[in-house]
Amino acid sequence: MIGGSSAGLFFATVLKHFLPPAKVTVLEKEKKLGKKLLATGNGHCNISRLHIEPKAYNHPEYLQKCLALADNRWLDEMLSAMGILTQNRGELLYPLSFSASSLLALLENGLRSNGVDVVLDTKVEDYVSNGQRVRVETNNGTYECDLLVIACGGASSPNLGSDGSFFGVLRKHGYQIVRPRPGLTSIKTNPRPVLADGSRHPCHLKAYEGENLLYEETGEVLFRNDGLSGICVMNAESSIERHYQKGKDYRVVLDLFPDLSLEDLRAMYEKALKSHGPKALLAFLDPSLCRFVESLAPQDVPSYLKDMSFAYQGSSGFAHSQVTLGGVDLSEIDEKMRSTRESGVAFIGEVLDVDGLCGGFNLSWCLLSSYLLASSL
Ligand SMILES: Cc1cc2nc3c(=O)[nH]c(=O)nc-3n(C[C@H](O)[C@H](O)[C@H](O)COP(=O)(O)OP(=O)(O)OC[C@H]3O[C@@H](n4cnc5c(N)ncnc54)[C@H](O)[C@@H]3O)c2cc1C
Repeated sequence: MIGGSSAGLFFATVLKHFLPPAKVTVLEKEKKLGKKLLATGNGHCNISRLHIEPKAYNHPEYLQKCLALADNRWLDEMLSAMGILTQNRGELLYPLSFSASSLLALLENGLRSNGVDVVLDTKVEDYVSNGQRVRVETNNGTYECDLLVIACGGASSPNLGSDGSFFGVLRKHGYQIVRPRPGLTSIKTNPRPVLADGSRHPCHLKAYEGENLLYEETGEVLFRNDGLSGICVMNAESSIERHYQKGKDYRVVLDLFPDLSLEDLRAMYEKALKSHGPKALLAFLDPSLCRFVESLAPQDVPSYLKDMSFAYQGSSGFAHSQVTLGGVDLSEIDEKMRSTRESGVAFIGEVLDVDGLCGGFNLSWCLLSSYLLASSL
């Protein structure tokens, strides 16, 4: 197995549960297992959801197909095979401990007690499949196996392990790789809300390609000196990047008072003007956001507060991205996650061209792809 973070650890654990005699070796290039898993959900690990809606993914029909292939109780089976107790907070599923560190410690404990070999600080550089066995070449020696499971992730947050370098090896093996792009990250905008840097405001966000609405969500937006952030912005970024075509215009439009009609907001603004004159905006926004709005001198302030438009100038890159858009093309695998190009090779997790929105969708994919592979062996 290449990669000892989310998908790799889930798979190794459940395989030993489904198929105890299997000999499993995890090859991880970092000095520790699960660096990215530890960072998930702000250290709480939003591991899955009560309902896994296919429409939150880049390929909804594919997800629908995978969910239909799995037993109805697949998620319970996975969690129970890993010995993970959970709690739900609304739709979101977390470990009962509410701690990614505890979850990782339990997974490591499971690997140890089930005799899984963990080899750290070992980077897989290439592999050769002769149709029967796979020889895996690392910077630390050679390994042989019947099945090489590739769970090396994408290119997002390279400081947490996955740096996208294995896509180069896979291209050499002939795999179609959908161009990797950063997903679930903050965006750069024009205008840049420099004066509002650090302000947060609840908004209803809409993302457009030209006049086409791509995405909308209500949530808190963080204004930054080069653009916007916050969960709804990160989701909008993924939605824009999934569609992105050079030469088209993309923008994000914020309604800062979605619960008020324009007429009501206008009446309140008139009232505030009477009470506070030029300081009226302070009745609506924090001082930094007031300065930003005032610097743009909109003719009709209430309309602007309900229709604050930012041209999309790109994402803030892989460094802070939570998921990679793109990866191994889905035509390269069968429904059991096995390569259709090389025998003895399978893929699970983010290395594949599957990405979901924030809220447990990406770890759900790691769990689901691990389940489909492990239950087929
Ligand atoms: C800050 C942050 C918060 C997140 N929060 C959530 C959340 O709460 N819920 C959710 O659903 N998703 C969340 N995600 C997304 C989720 O963590 C990832 O989609 C998921 O971890 C992908 O799992 P993976 O095992 O496929 O890849 P990764 O977790 O990236 O693991 C791949 C592993 O492979 C190793 N590796 C790579 N190349 C090699 C090689 N050549 N040889 C050996 N080892 C190699 C890497 O070091 C790494 O450890 C978050 C992501 C980030 C960055």
